[in-house]
This record gives sequence, C-alpha cells and structure tokens, in this order.
Amino acid sequence: MSATAVATTCPYCGVGCGVLAERRPDGGWRVRGDPDHPANAGRLCSKGAALAETLDLEDRLLHPELRGRRVSWNVALDHVAAEFKRIIQAHGPQAVAFYVSGQLLTEDYYVANKLMKGYLGAANIDTNSRLCMSSSVAGHQRAFGADAVPCSYADLELADLLVLVGSNAAWCHPVLWQRMLESRRARPEVKIVVIDPRRTATAAEADLFLPLRSGTDTMLFNGLLHHLNRESALNWSFLEHRTEGYAAAFAAARDSAPSIPAVAAACGLDAEDVARFYRMFTRTERVVTCYSQGVNQSSSGTDKVNSIINCHLATGRIGRPGMGPFSLTGQPNAMGGREVGGLANQLAAHMHLDNPDHRDCVQRFWKSPVIAQTAGLKAVDMFRAVGRGEIKAVWIMATNPVVSLPDADAVRAALAGCELVVVSDCVRHTDTTALAHVLLPAQAWGEKEGTVTNSERRISRQRAFLAPPGETRPDWWIVSEVARRMGFGDAFRYQSAADIFREHAALSAYENHNRRDFDLGGLAGIDDDSYDALRPVQWPLPAAMRERLPLPLRERAGGRGKPSPADSPPSPRKGVGVESRGTARMFADGRFFHPGGRARLVPIQPRPPACAPDEEYPLALNTGRVRDHWHTMTRTGKSARLSAHAPEPCIDIHPADAERSGLVRDQLACIESRWGSAVGRVRISDAQRPGEVFMPMHWNDQYAARARVDAVVNPAVDPHSGQPELKHTPVRIAPLRPAWEAVLFGVADPPAESAHWVRVRGNGGGRVHAAGLQWPRAGPPVAAGWLPPPAPGEELIEYADVAAGRYRAALLRGGRLRACVFAMRGGDLRPHIEWLDGLMGHQQPLSVADRMALLSGQPPRNGVDAGPLVCACFGVGRNTILKAARDGCRSVDDIGRALNAGSNCGSCRAEIRELLNAAS
Ligand code: SF4
Repeated sequence: MSATAVATTCPYCGVGCGVLAERRPDGGWRVRGDPDHPANAGRLCSKGAALAETLDLEDRLLHPELRGRRVSWNVALDHVAAEFKRIIQAHGPQAVAFYVSGQLLTEDYYVANKLMKGYLGAANIDTNSRLCMSSSVAGHQRAFGADAVPCSYADLELADLLVLVGSNAAWCHPVLWQRMLESRRARPEVKIVVIDPRRTATAAEADLFLPLRSGTDTMLFNGLLHHLNRESALNWSFLEHRTEGYAAAFAAARDSAPSIPAVAAACGLDAEDVARFYRMFTRTERVVTCYSQGVNQSSSGTDKVNSIINCHLATGRIGRPGMGPFSLTGQPNAMGGREVGGLANQLAAHMHLDNPDHRDCVQRFWKSPVIAQTAGLKAVDMFRAVGRGEIKAVWIMATNPVVSLPDADAVRAALAGCELVVVSDCVRHTDTTALAHVLLPAQAWGEKEGTVTNSERRISRQRAFLAPPGETRPDWWIVSEVARRMGFGDAFRYQSAADIFREHAALSAYENHNRRDFDLGGLAGIDDDSYDALRPVQWPLPAAMRERLPLPLRERAGGRGKPSPADSPPSPRKGVGVESRGTARMFADGRFFHPGGRARLVPIQPRPPACAPDEEYPLALNTGRVRDHWHTMTRTGKSARLSAHAPEPCIDIHPADAERSGLVRDQLACIESRWGSAVGRVRISDAQRPGEVFMPMHWNDQYAARARVDAVVNPAVDPHSGQPELKHTPVRIAPLRPAWEAVLFGVADPPAESAHWVRVRGNGGGRVHAAGLQWPRAGPPVAAGWLPPPAPGEELIEYADVAAGRYRAALLRGGRLRACVFAMRGGDLRPHIEWLDGLMGHQQPLSVADRMALLSGQPPRNGVDAGPLVCACFGVGRNTILKAARDGCRSVDDIGRALNAGSNCGSCRAEIRELLNAAS
C-alpha cells in the first residue's frame, strides 16, 4: 500500500471487498483491490474496478432544499423536526415512518433505529434490505433462534461440494465466485451444482445445472431431506443432541416429495439430474449451500431457506470447516442493518421486539423515555399505509423505493399524496427525490466514515478519502440533529461515527452473558485511533476475545488507513483464505440460540407462487441484475465501461414464447401485468425456461422511459419475512412496433416525438436510444431539431435515403465529431454503436474515410470496431475475441493470455466460452 492509500470497502455488493484509494499524479483517483482484506485479497470485479470513474459531482445533491428551494441546514432540520412533532402529537407515533437502506453505514442505521424505536416510540422503520434478504433473516431465526450466518468465505474454499441456489454469483458476487472457481481449479475433486430457472453465467460453469421451474425449490430440498433419510445418510447424534423438530420435518418431506420422479415432475427437471444431485449431496461431507435472491425474493422465501437449512441440520453439516448453509447478501451493509435493528420487526443488537425482557434491556441501556412495543410495518405494508394516509410523514434515507419496491406505480402515487416526504440522499435527481418536500444532502461513499458488515459477518471500515462537497453531511449527523431539535439532544450527542460504534458495541454486550449471538463486547471500549485503524473482524467478538486481537492501532502514530507493515495481517494462503479475526464459524460448539440451545428443523409444506400465470397473463416474470450495473444506477450509470455490457433494459424470452408472442430479436416490446407495464428490448435465448421471462431491475425514469420493471411486479409478500415476490409475476408481452428508431450521440435529451428512450453513458459522452410511434412531420433528423443547428465554425453533414427510410447526420466542430444521429423509419436500425462511440471520443479531426463511413453507416475497412463489450475489466469487445479465435485461441484461458479478457473478475468467462463455441 502506498503512503497515501486509504483502505476502505467497495460500496456495492455484500461480498464487502476491501479497496485502496490512491491519488494519481494527475490529481484523480485510482481504486484497486486491497491485498490485505480477507474478503477479496486484492481481487475486484468490474464494478469495484470502475469505482474511480464514478466519483464526479454530476447530479449530486449539495444543499438542503425545502419544496424545491435551497435553504440552510437550520431551516431544513427545524422544519423536519417540527413537522414530525406536529404529526406525532396530532396522530400518534404510528403516523410517521423511516425507510432506510443497506447503503447506510452501521452507525447511520443505529442512530435512525434508536430515534424511531426508543424516542418516537414506534417501530415503523424498515429497510430496503427487506427486499433482498429478510427471508434469510426469518429462516435463520426459525432454525437457529438468531439471525446468525454460520459460515465464512474460507468455507467456500474448504468445501468439496458447492451448491448455489437462486444465485448468479458470477455476476452478483463475482469475487466470491472467483474464489470458488479457484478452489475447483486447485482441487479438481471440488464440484459445483447450480440450481436456477435461468441458465446464467454461473450455471455455465457448473458441473451439474438444475434448471428448476420457478418457485419449486422447497420441493427439491424436501425431496433431498427425504432422500437423506431413506438412504440412512442422517447424522443421528447431531439430530438427537443438537436439534428438535426433525420428526415433523421428515414427515412433511416424505409426504410432499415422496420420490425422485415426483420431485423431478414438480420441478420440471430430469429425474436423472435430480438423482445425481441427491447422490452428490449424500456422499459429500463438506458441502456449502449458497443461496441468494432467487431463494429469498419469494412469497415462500422463508420456507425455501428453511428447506435448505433442514438438510444441513439433518446431516450435522454446520459449524464445521467447509460446511453450512450460506446466505449471500445483496447490499454492502444489509448485515449491518440487521445488527442494529433496521428491520421493523427487530430491536437493536439482534434483540427481539416481541420479547419484553429485550425491550426492557434496550430501553434501560438507552435510558429512553419509551420503547416500541410491537413490530412496525414492513416495507410493502409501510408504503400501503402511506397510500391510505395512515402514515403521514415518511423519511426515506439513501434509497429509491419508487423504482425498487413492487407495484412501484402505487408507491409513487402513495408518496405523491403523502403530507410530508423527507429524502436524505447524495443524488439530486431520482424517481423518489422528485416527490420529496424536503431534500437533505448526505455524504457519499468516499466522503463518509463508518463500518459495514459483509455476508460472512465481517465488519470493515469505510473510510473517507474525498472532501465532502457542498453542504453534505453524514447521515448519522442529520438524524441526530433532527432528534436534538425534537427534544432528545442528550441521547444523540455524537461527535463522530466512532462515538456511535462504541455505543452500538456496548449495547450488543449489555446483559448478554453469551445468550445472544450478536456480541461486539471486545470492541465496546475502542478508542478513536483504534476505530480509525480497525481492521476487518468477524462477529461475535465478545469481551473475552479482546486479548486475542492483534494490537490495535492505538499505539501507532500513523493516520487513518495507514497501518504499519508490522501490523499487516498474514498474506492469503491458498485454499483457506486470510486468517480471520473474531469468530470465523458459528455453531462450532453445537449450541444454538433457541431456549434449550437446540436448532430446529422446520416442517415445510411446498406452496406455489402467490399468483400463477393464466390465459390472460401466461408468462412468469423474473427480475434481477445485469452484470455491470448496481441497483438504480445512480453510481454505475456514470461509467461508460459499466454501461457498455447491457446498455438498454432487456427482456429475455425463450424462442418458443417469442414466436408465440410474435417477437423477433432486438425488437422493442411491452411487458404488462395486472399491476403495471414496462418496455424493454427483446433478447431471445434458450437460457430462459419456456413460460418464464426475465427483465432487469436497474432502469428508472432518469435513464429510460417506462423501464421500471418493479411497476410490473406483484406486491405479494412472504408471510414470515414480508419479503416481496420479485421473481414471479404473471405477465403478457407484445411487440411495440415503433414507426421509427434512432440513436443520438452527443445529445442529452430524447427527441420530443419519442415514445420510448434510454440514456446511455458512452466514452464520447452520453447518447440516447429513442423510438416513436409517429414519424415527425418535419422529417428527422435535422429538420425536426434532433441535432442542434450548427454554430459558427461547425459543419453539418447529412445523408438521407427516403425510400429506405434511413437518415444519418453528423455535427462537426473543427473536424471533430460533436454529435450525430442515426435514424430509421420502420425497419431495423442496427448502428455500430462501439465504433460510433469511439469516434465521439476521438480527439483528432475525422479523416475523410471516417466521414464517408459515418454517412454510409459502416466502419471503414481498417476502422476499429471492437464490437459489443464482453470483458468490462479490460474493455475487450466481441469482435476482438472473435478475431483472436480466428487467430488460434481455443479456450477461455487462451483468450485471457492473448487479450487479458476473463482473467480478472471472471464474470465474462461464460460469454467468452459461448463466443468460442460459436466460432469453432
Ligand atoms: Fe464490490 Fe465486486 Fe467486491 Fe462486490 S464483488 S464488493 S461489487 S468489488
């Protein structure tokens, strides 16, 4: 690490990779993987590697605003505090709510939860993590008596069988996926099974892929449990001494999934494949079952989680190296939110709202005037209550529910009718800030200090390396200031994130006596310098473990994020990962957190999804991520590199369904459900199961017209966790058939005549893809004003083939391309996007050949057209890979050696393999 590097963590997914931010000589920033962070040991995926491209201040919220007017912090905070007080006095504490986020740091989360549950006296605080992993929380609590993730990442490398259920780790947890693949490369006996309705990039690398029918996971795992019983593969000692409820669980498994053929028929799988999976699981002791949103985001998500955990408890494969059920969380600090009670049905420090002793304990610790007595409203219900006018004031922190919640148009309508909407965010324009009465500018990643917890319970520091811009403030400061103005100043006198962390750690240890899983007593007395230099550590870390910690940095003179070499953790060792600090593995002593100390097997009755496809809506819609974007694109949408792999919202559909729906490849189509509609571009692929379609979750009104897929999604929720069914909504699909399509480079806004548009960040600036239902009367592109009129010194070149309906025009300044339009009436517009994007980024005047090529719409023979991006880490396009294949590259590793492609995060390896197969 250089002398100026600041060690922090990536703000994207729950892997929680460590990164080093370093100043470049030109004053910019470089972000690279931290070789000393145990989660990634220096690796980064494409998103993490592009972090330095997302640090600009474009569209940052820099000043408080009240009803669209810039105001001082005092005015804004006084207004929020007075309005919350007024509404509570008039209607009671249940009339207000906080909706928070897995993007918040633990310290921010802690303060917001304390204000709501201990001082306002209600529990209407819920988090967007409700949407990604609350079924895992509920499943853990049912099985273990606490929300404790059993495994560590090192277990992924110690396992002989890795089962991934509803997890496209190659795209969504790429660094963990790389660790799994490296483990298999080092020990070829390691096998990977992928269970997913879609043949994803993860499935493409699997030794066995089970493309099960959406929503049938509980059948598959009930079948496995029954198979383990029938094959006498149970760990009876563990069952007898460490668990309860197994007889009922076995009976439910037997009754619902009596045979492999019955399971195969219900899941839409080949019976031989099911039998092979069951054999692999039965015969392999060291099994880790990873699961993610494909399991959690379901109206039976909690049951799915427990059906998986049942199989691990039945075999005693938990709490030992290389074994266990492993929930991979989506957001960077979903776990931190769980620790502080960011969910409406939890108290702080993993204590339970429905436990009077816990309520009493927290209230005494906080010395608070009140404590919430009952669970608050979970996310979907919270916004329904806003819509009914029962919640009259809502404060949304660092999240965008108008895009991400199901039935998103109803959420938008609810906020539009709400008496007071406060949004604290670092972004000025989102679909949610558009509805805010008060906007509070928060600090962003790189500007704020605090901690996050990743999927393996590892707490890491986020450290500031950028000066906070404008009047931005930390979220914890904003909440504390409102609390102070509401009359609770004594309890919110924090001067720093470290103050809050100490209190959070002390509460976790308060009257704990080893009875609660979450215990940070070993960090309760941490001083400012040690907090500043805190290295990644896994909870639980009770006070008794303090002595086993390596020296904290309190004895060092160095500033934050500059540990001396003497304190560096050991280098990564192949196969076992970097040494952990704290507790690497839960339940190693066979003790769980239910009264009596036993784990519980839960009898599972498989249930169909909440709403089945029918004649009117014959397809099941699945939603999820694309490889290089994150959430609602507020950060990744700024990067040309990250925008290149999937520039437009797509709709993936099986060839048979496409034919039945009259769809062809690359056509725009409208997907529609009983709740709403969205538009995307059709990709026909047999990676989809027949009857199921997929659309990504990222696009919103800032980036596209009518592409918020969550407007389409059924708001049904799991009865235990309240997690919405984001992966199974009955829909129908129809072609859009626009009268024209166009791509406009160097233009910020879509043509006024557009019925559909998408904004994309490119190397040469922004571009817009647009389509309209009526051809402009004036005739595009120039006469209709799609390009600005040429200024003095600018030159306009144009081409029109009226008969064929093709139009091209370019605006040149000093010979350099400033803007251009490719438009097509009807027909099929397929410009060479990457070539044109390259021309837009040219610093030199265009050659005559380039000008001719522009008007002909074809790259010149010797022109560079790398083709659509495949490898974002090294910027390698499809055409370049195909050329390397023609030049003799035969394998993905050959391509890696020749072009680097696929050799970093590996998310594109499946795509490279497909290209090589197609080329051979
Ligand atoms: Fe960030 Fe990628 Fe690591 Fe996730 S896997 S934390 S997105 S670098």
